Amino acid sequence: MDFRTIIRERRLGQDHSEQSLTYLAEQAALLESDARRQIKDYQLTAWLMAAIFNPLSLDNTAQLTMAMANSGERLDLSSIPKPWVDKHSTGGVGDKTTLILLPMLASLDVTMVKMSGRGLGITGGTIDKLEAIPGFRTDLTPQEMMEQAQRIGIALSGQTPKLAPADKTLYGLRDATDTVASIPLIASSVLSKKIAAGAEFILIDLKCGNGSFMKDQEQARALAQTMLEVGKRCGISLRIAITDMNQPLGRNIGNALEVKEAIDVLRGKGDPRLKHFCETLCAAVLHQCGKAESKEVASQMAERAVSDGLALEKMRTWVEAQGGSLSIFESDWGAAPFLLPVNYRGPQTRVASIDAAILGQLAVDLGAGRQRAGDPIDPTVGIELHVAVGDAIQDGACLCTLHVKDKVQDTAAEQSLSAFAFHPEGKPSSTPIIEWVA
Ligand code: URA
Repeated sequence: MDFRTIIRERRLGQDHSEQSLTYLAEQAALLESDARRQIKDYQLTAWLMAAIFNPLSLDNTAQLTMAMANSGERLDLSSIPKPWVDKHSTGGVGDKTTLILLPMLASLDVTMVKMSGRGLGITGGTIDKLEAIPGFRTDLTPQEMMEQAQRIGIALSGQTPKLAPADKTLYGLRDATDTVASIPLIASSVLSKKIAAGAEFILIDLKCGNGSFMKDQEQARALAQTMLEVGKRCGISLRIAITDMNQPLGRNIGNALEVKEAIDVLRGKGDPRLKHFCETLCAAVLHQCGKAESKEVASQMAERAVSDGLALEKMRTWVEAQGGSLSIFESDWGAAPFLLPVNYRGPQTRVASIDAAILGQLAVDLGAGRQRAGDPIDPTVGIELHVAVGDAIQDGACLCTLHVKDKVQDTAAEQSLSAFAFHPEGKPSSTPIIEWVA
């Protein structure tokens, strides 16, 4: 096949044949140095740039999704109990939902097999958070994942390059050529990896706001609609929630701090907004996969998973199974060398907003995230918020504590202050935390 024809079709906004997209994905799955690779990276990039200006049709997006899912290994979950559920977040500041939701669902007999990524930019990654737990292994082989999922109903590992390798190549080229921002390309990239990982029900947590890559609600809705249509064509059941990322999710930002907050929520404590968020997602999955006959029953089951201690017990079992130290449940651990309180100075007022982008960047600057892929991170550093949007405060109130490795952090304190806006009447965010698209 002459790839120039496929580039021309894209440049002219024409439909591709399914064979053309399968060829593209099969070729992208090979290393450029491989003798079987007939398409050069510059040709793939030309096609990607044309796809930015002439987006793929829904049918072509679904065909590309399946071709990328089939471009490498696919996990076969048939030996483990159903339902098989996966959850994907597009990433946000303080987003530790996976650490809470997976044990909640697994404690209710939903099998959770999940591959997660590392943080990039200001959004944290689940693998970095779990690696803050001493001993926790994030490099399970597919066989180990199957065995563990069968035994305890939950397994999570870092992404293997063997699943959807075409996406790995295409995503790398998109990242390097500013061709990420195409809805069909994002939808096929996310869904191909989920399909290759074997789940039958998928919850997509599509973060929208200044603390995530999707800033605009209309764009988020358009991406959600495309994913739903593509999901239907690919035979997977999707639920998509567009969730507010204009303020950090929960009170802690930073790897060990977020694990601690997740454990707090599983103990029934912690930030009520975060707890409610996780229970709502949990109930939606229970209803979607037929574990609960009504939304009301699903909500009750989700609440009870926490109040009865089942989810916390499942978290302990999970941590132990992946080699993590159970001391994280018993005593303080993973503490940063210094704590720096940041106080409010001024008349009595209320917290009107807390900017997720500013705090996300600050957490990266403190060492909790990476400037570039591959940089080392410090699991102990981060930000602990003591106030939420709408809280009344007066002179001297502690807004947040910075967990830092060096004592002198004056600019960090200033940076954190700039994330807060105040107004005597408060101004809780008008965006609902969750907007269900389906
Ligand atoms: N996350 C992905 O996995 N792929 C994209 O294209 C964008 C976000």
